[in-house]
Amino acid sequence: MKALQYRSIGAKPEVVEIPKPAPKAGEVLLKVTAAGVCHSDEFIMSLPKEKYVYGLPLTLGHEGAGVVAELGAGVTGVSVGESVAVYGPWGCGLCHNCAQGMENYCLRAQELKIMPPGLGSPGAMAEYMIVDSSRHLVPLRDLDPVKNVSLTDAGLTPYHAIKTSLPKLVPGSTSVVIGAGGLGHVGIQLVRALSSSTIVALDVNEEKLALAREVGADHALLSNDAAVGAIRDLTGGRGANAVFDFVGAPPTTKLAAKVAGVLADIRIVGIGGGSVPVGFFDLAYEVSVSSPYWGTRSELIEVLELARKGAVKVEIETYSLDDAPRAYERLHEGKIRGRAVIVP
Ligand code: NAD
Ligand code: ZN
Ligand code: ZN
Repeated sequence: MKALQYRSIGAKPEVVEIPKPAPKAGEVLLKVTAAGVCHSDEFIMSLPKEKYVYGLPLTLGHEGAGVVAELGAGVTGVSVGESVAVYGPWGCGLCHNCAQGMENYCLRAQELKIMPPGLGSPGAMAEYMIVDSSRHLVPLRDLDPVKNVSLTDAGLTPYHAIKTSLPKLVPGSTSVVIGAGGLGHVGIQLVRALSSSTIVALDVNEEKLALAREVGADHALLSNDAAVGAIRDLTGGRGANAVFDFVGAPPTTKLAAKVAGVLADIRIVGIGGGSVPVGFFDLAYEVSVSSPYWGTRSELIEVLELARKGAVKVEIETYSLDDAPRAYERLHEGKIRGRAVIVP
């Protein structure tokens, strides 16, 4: 079968021919229907050898959807032919966090060497993929896999970040969304769907700002020092109640710290290496700063329900598996509008 693999440090991903996998006991084989391209893929492919821990060759794709093709011995709960989305942050299923559906924070994943598909285990950018347990599948039912596959990360990750901040997003509040790319453009829709908070989107690219307005931002501004003053003005000097930073680079975390008002939440979702110093004189009173990772199993079910209601819609560009390397080039150039989705 064909697969898109990252094969050597620093190289571009390549389409290669590899054997079709067979499901072992407990595993599920999916015929992949769609796989999303995430900026985190680019991040891991930019790591030097000493920091790269995902194994080589690595079949990419941590946003996946497919049709159940074959069940390993003993698998129950899904049937052949069913259309499913893959819950990517695999955990052990048994520890205290996993027991609450928070497999993204599994306490034993490292010890048991459990790695998400496309981030250690073979991912979704292939004709077929193995999912380690039916527990990691959510039925898509009527949802189109190509249009909705990215909800498994570009939807789930902002959903988790926003849901945990909802008590702050009361009527009259202001939310700042930094980075209107794959995650950010869904994040804007999620803030809109879940709260009545006024949304200020920030980006460095005018086309992304246009997309932000289209998907529901009340204000869309260039992400720079002037935005700090603009947000102060828009909030009558109070600052934002929540800042969702989908870039997480030094300039954006610095900006997040400046625009966060008293009691605000700052969620650093982007992995751009920035940080927010937390000390008495660094921030407004009682600002909470956190760095959420992906989301829980029940939250994925909830995000898919929002899509079913028409409350969130991922803007997509589609590519064949043969053309997948071009999707990564366009991502690198900052040209993807919304999310790139590979359709094998
Ligand atoms: P993307 O490339 O689709 O979007 C990034 C957006 O940020 C683009 O619109 C870009 O123009 C904008 N941007 C870049 N620099 C900026 C700046 N200085 N100020 C404002 N906007 C800026 O990326 P994505 O796939 O949406 O991922 C976003 C980030 O989230 C990445 O760092 C990714 O690795 C990370 N991520 C984290 C998690 C998690 O669990 N924490 C999950 C998925 C992705
Ligand atoms: Zn991702
Ligand atoms: Zn666990």
